[in-house]
Amino acid sequence: MTDPIQQAPTIQGWCPGALRPMMSGDGLVLRIRPVAARLTQSQALGLADLARRFGNGLIDFSSRGNVQLRGVSTQGHPDLIAALAALGLVDETPKAEAQRNITVSPFWTQQDQTVDVSAQVVKVMSQREAPVLPSKFGVAIDLGPTPVLQDISADIRVERDAEGSLLLVANGMARGMTCHIDHMADHLQKLAAWFVAAGGVTGGRGRMARLIANGTVPDGFDQTPRQVQDPATRFVPSVVLVGAMVGFDFGQTDWKTLTALAEIGPLRITPWRMIIVEGARQMPHVAGLITDPQDPMLWVTACTGKPGCLQALQPTRPLGRALAPHLQGPLHVSGCTKGCAHPKAAEMTLVATATGFDFIRQGRADDTPTLRSLTAADLCAHPNLLSAKEPNAQPDALPYPMNERL
Ligand code: SF4
Repeated sequence: MTDPIQQAPTIQGWCPGALRPMMSGDGLVLRIRPVAARLTQSQALGLADLARRFGNGLIDFSSRGNVQLRGVSTQGHPDLIAALAALGLVDETPKAEAQRNITVSPFWTQQDQTVDVSAQVVKVMSQREAPVLPSKFGVAIDLGPTPVLQDISADIRVERDAEGSLLLVANGMARGMTCHIDHMADHLQKLAAWFVAAGGVTGGRGRMARLIANGTVPDGFDQTPRQVQDPATRFVPSVVLVGAMVGFDFGQTDWKTLTALAEIGPLRITPWRMIIVEGARQMPHVAGLITDPQDPMLWVTACTGKPGCLQALQPTRPLGRALAPHLQGPLHVSGCTKGCAHPKAAEMTLVATATGFDFIRQGRADDTPTLRSLTAADLCAHPNLLSAKEPNAQPDALPYPMNERL
């Protein structure tokens, strides 16, 4: 239930792009959407250099596998766009950029059709006659042997059925439509057009799962059962089939670390705000990385907070860092009730207020708090306030079986 006491933050209703950046407390934020979530070495080196020259040197990774530059000035924006275009990292128009909302499994291989399917989806979504979709409407391409993106926000999903065939899914449905790759783009376009025609968009916003939950379902998309992602799977730093996956505190790095990683190999951006250094067979020895799968900072999600975000009511990351060693489960620290860094329910959420933090157990940042008006000092002095378990219980071993199979 949404908490009525908290003052509602401003909902922008759109995501920043490179061509249409968003103003934040530390300057413009530009979101760059690399094709197939992959940066070649020269693109990654170039991007790190641009973050240093045009931004504040910090680089964020988003939960859709995108990259953000921060702290860019309005005056510097045109030159930055020209430099990004030279790297092949911007679309032709803001509309094309906004519609290219595609998340791919970062574990894709040359054989699993991700690159082909991704190219088809881009083509369909950028056609002039493509339906006008809400800014947050997205497609997830998840073509490994078992799904890994089912926790990631998307409205249309391309997965595999139990026989290994491509399965087109309207998000929110337990079944999908099996289809051949030659017909996939056509069916995807029809599904997107159905979403609009069926009333999925109101005031420029709307999500497929909400429409489906209201009992409106598309014909032909309830044929084949989906495979279900193992809910215990937790993605943590490790060496996987396609490279070495490394993490960063709060999913943020700086230009120096990005440069060092790019010198090792091409980079894939994961929707878990980590990076895979393609081809690496051991963890890179680079400062500023999380390489230990048991690092407590992996439990913490925190948005930019104050002063980087104009809507933030308190700093978030210093508190998250201070609490990390005491955690026995995931913690989301949010600078306001919008909950940008973790829009879904979390086991534990701290939401900034004008005077401190409210605590929500198993809810979203805009849910009714369990405890109110905690100060950062209270929380640091008594971290057991957040304990999800009995006070003397031992933490579970972190489950990370998936990585061993990838
Ligand atoms: S959740 Fe955080 S980043 Fe999002 S608007 Fe609120 S303070 Fe800003």
